[in-house]
Amino acid sequence: MKKKYSPIKSVLGEIFPLHRTLASNDMERAFEIIGSYLPAPAKYTIETYAPGTQVWTWRVPEKYVVQEAYLETESAHGAGRSERILDFNDNPLHLVSYSLPVDIVLSWDELEPHLHFSEKRPAAIPWEFRYYERDWGFCLAKEQFDRLPRDKNYHAVIRSEFVTDAKQGFRVASAVVRPMGDVSKDVGEFLVLSHLCHPMQANDDASGVAVEVEVARRLAENPLPAGSMNVRFWFGPETIGTVAWLAHNEDLIPNLRGGMFIDSVGNQNSLALQRTRQHTHLLDRISCHVMKKHFGEFRQGEFAQVAPNDERVINGPGVNVPCVSLSRFPYPEYHTSDDNLDIIHEELLVETADIAEEIIRIYSSNYTPKRTFRGPVFLSGYGLWVDWRENWALNRAIEKIMMRFEGQHTIFDIAEQVGLDYWTVRDYVEKFRAKGFVNPLPILFEGEIA
Ligand SMILES: [Zn+2]
Repeated sequence: MKKKYSPIKSVLGEIFPLHRTLASNDMERAFEIIGSYLPAPAKYTIETYAPGTQVWTWRVPEKYVVQEAYLETESAHGAGRSERILDFNDNPLHLVSYSLPVDIVLSWDELEPHLHFSEKRPAAIPWEFRYYERDWGFCLAKEQFDRLPRDKNYHAVIRSEFVTDAKQGFRVASAVVRPMGDVSKDVGEFLVLSHLCHPMQANDDASGVAVEVEVARRLAENPLPAGSMNVRFWFGPETIGTVAWLAHNEDLIPNLRGGMFIDSVGNQNSLALQRTRQHTHLLDRISCHVMKKHFGEFRQGEFAQVAPNDERVINGPGVNVPCVSLSRFPYPEYHTSDDNLDIIHEELLVETADIAEEIIRIYSSNYTPKRTFRGPVFLSGYGLWVDWRENWALNRAIEKIMMRFEGQHTIFDIAEQVGLDYWTVRDYVEKFRAKGFVNPLPILFEGEIA
């Protein structure tokens, strides 16, 4: 049974408290929750990769399983009480992600290098991770750190396991929402991404995940017009997730015509557009058009300069598929326990979904019309004449539109050049297409094969 439609924040609320890291039991739980919200025809698929597998220049990490982790003051010779300082069960942020197992008694001087706090946000627990340089540690509020007795011994316990079993492995997931009608293979796919890792944090990037789910649902309920791209919604851990996925699915790369990364979009800050590495690609122009329409003046930045993320993989060396990103970065609660549901605003999630949806709808349904006719088309003979009393602006633009069917301009470009709404022009061009007067040339693959 699929869940009923619900506000975006409820998806977020379900995945927020989980111990989501590169690969973990809670990460698997989060993948299941996302699947339960996605439309069934999108065929949500979870892929599992064996830890240790070489993926381009990276290596698939182990699954990280934590039985328990806590820090106590050590009672001297069994006398007095030991006091629990912090516990992974209270908040997974207390444990440095991918900490090695330990069970050790230490003096304050020995313990201190393993404790992490935030000077900037003294009441919050910071998030630290040691994915690749194996070590261990705990995170706590600076206020709590300051209060800890310096003359006591401490008992640090981390019962963690690095699971290398291929079947348990490292996971990513994606679902493909199709347009109406038959899907032509040359049209390709648009890729939407967000990352699911980051234990018990809401904005980075469970907010992006929740918006992605919302956009997937909208595109399934109200599909793109026939002839549009498939839209693939991808979920997984940051960077290593997209690297491992693409390395296992290199044959998908030539299908990718563009991408959008959605990261940290629920906090109180203006939405920023981060441009593609190509900078002035059609996708940049469409994204700017949509942002301008909604906001007038809007915040934007260069590639990988607003919130550097998985677009560095998708739009990076040897792949180079143009990828924009939407984010409300920066925000002061970043990578701490203050990044929680309190800072997330439903209306800002909705606003992000609106913008993302509109960019995707235009980019994925856009194509280059190429004429098959000679001479001006006998408009009224084919029912293509537009009565100026019904649509004066379109009537005035007919000649200009018809002169742009040379296979040089996409519908979006034509709409911009004649100063009309994209959908007005697209609907009109579709009438020429229905009469066989134009053929649709797809948006080309502009990435790199190797
Ligand atoms: Zn982050």
